[in-house]
Amino acid sequence: MRIPLFRRGGRQETDPVCDMQVDTAKPPGGSYEYQGQTYYFCGPGCNRAFQKEPEAYLSGEKKIQM
Ligand SMILES: [Zn+2]
Repeated sequence: MRIPLFRRGGRQETDPVCDMQVDTAKPPGGSYEYQGQTYYFCGPGCNRAFQKEPEAYLSGEKKIQM
């Protein structure tokens, strides 16, 4: 079985809040568009956290370790 990691345009994207790999076809936490880029989340908590402070997570200033 092949597990694609970090494949651009593939089915997996990185949750910007906790760095987990998320299936873009069925993101458990839904998705959110910010500055023309769509982000996918492992859970609703990460989605909410990102929407509150997107810059903090994108800059790497904040991270939630799971
Ligand atoms: Zn997450």
